[in-house]
Amino acid sequence: MQIELTGHEALIFKKIARAAEDLSMPCYLIGGFVRDKLLGRPTKDADIVCIGDGIKLAHEVAELFNPKPAVAYFKNFGTAQIKIPGLEIEFVGARKESYAPDSRKPAVETGTLEDDLNRRDFTINTLAISLNKNDYGEVVDAFNGIQHLHEKIIKTPLEPVTTFSDDPLRMMRAIRFATQLGFTIETGTFNAIKKDAERIKIISQERITDELNKIMLAEKPSVGWFLLRDSGLLQIIFPKLLELQGAEYIDGIGHKDNFTHTLQVLDNMAAKTDDLWLRWAALLHDIAKPATKRFSKEEGWTFHGHEAVGARMVPKIFARLKLPQNEKMRLVQKLVALHLRPISLTKENITDSAIRRLLFDAGNDIDALMMLCEADITSKNRIKVKRYLSNFEIVRKRLIEVEEKDKIRNWQPPITGEIIMETFGLPPGRQIGIIKDAIREAILDGEIPNDYEAAYNLMIEKAAVLNLKPLA
Ligand code: ATP
Ligand code: MG
Repeated sequence: MQIELTGHEALIFKKIARAAEDLSMPCYLIGGFVRDKLLGRPTKDADIVCIGDGIKLAHEVAELFNPKPAVAYFKNFGTAQIKIPGLEIEFVGARKESYAPDSRKPAVETGTLEDDLNRRDFTINTLAISLNKNDYGEVVDAFNGIQHLHEKIIKTPLEPVTTFSDDPLRMMRAIRFATQLGFTIETGTFNAIKKDAERIKIISQERITDELNKIMLAEKPSVGWFLLRDSGLLQIIFPKLLELQGAEYIDGIGHKDNFTHTLQVLDNMAAKTDDLWLRWAALLHDIAKPATKRFSKEEGWTFHGHEAVGARMVPKIFARLKLPQNEKMRLVQKLVALHLRPISLTKENITDSAIRRLLFDAGNDIDALMMLCEADITSKNRIKVKRYLSNFEIVRKRLIEVEEKDKIRNWQPPITGEIIMETFGLPPGRQIGIIKDAIREAILDGEIPNDYEAAYNLMIEKAAVLNLKPLA
């Protein structure tokens, strides 16, 4: 099969071909780039394998561009990289790898194109396009990769047990590609993952989490999480999530399977936003349900406080998964903590003060929170869903009304901690917090107007109760 390389990339590949010819060094486009070309998916990076020294080829290629791009190279790995606007190109010499059973570090030696294809993870990733003069554009398909692209199959080129035990990360990659591409993992390949799942333990958490994030960013992330469960990998890499699975029955009363529910919420969220962290919030919103689950004759199954407990679990989960410990984590925490608040507002008479409180607590994340709440509706009863959604519409309307009137979203009370400290000559301490909270609560509850004078008067009043007098 012949592929026509078109567009601005075509010119780039012609230059690579010329450099390779000058060096008499056969070279090929390979792996993900070829796969994505054939699938019509957008690509930003291209890998080139040459039979020879990849770093030398990269330098030769760079000479042909004006301006000449920098060549970043890593002698130890024999790889080099050039960035051309719109395309990152990585060069490497064909290699042969052999693995000792308990190591992730292969012994690497130079090899033929065939050796290089043998060490790749899946048949769809072994495709190469020749950039050589005699057969420019010809697809090298040593393992039926093209057929498997058509059949939408993820299959290892060698015996799956060999491929996976050489590098267990490939088990995660199989599931990630299945999720991203909507492909099926071939039975023998999937059985090998099941058999070898334990070996994922030798892979660093960072690399595992990279794959998890790619799964999370797919169109339908639940696919990946179900495959992780079915393969046995989930039990090893994220057992807390698996605890959500199953429905317990007492006296004939059951609760829903929170694993399935959670993944449906995740997919609902994915349909609304590409934001990775909002998707993580959806995955974790009910994470404390197993820890808070109770049964009583009066109430049946309850999960009281799961939002607060769940929010407290988020930092530990992020640490374990080596996800960032920063404002992204705090956003996830906040959304988990608040995820029941809008729902509770649909149940009661919505007062202005309840709306103000929600606006204050959610701040600029109010839209994300409303998104999560809507994603959280997974009832199969169409009438119920309709009622929930129309309730949320009312909450949204009221949020807009109250925000226009009171501007609470980015609001801070007119009296700050500094003002209190200065007024009473106090060092930072508990008393400041008490006075500050009282002022904020009074304004949010509508007991005093939102202005400096009213807040100042209340400050004096509350301070008096604490036996504090303003400095003269
Ligand atoms: P993406 O760029 O979307 O992650 P990709 O298939 O291009 O997908 P890369 O990690 O960029 O993946 O790797 C490029 C190619 O290198 C792959 O297509 C595959 O042929 C090979 N490869 C990458 N990682 C591995 C691995 N762990 N084991 C075997 N081959 C791999
Ligand atoms: Mg790639």
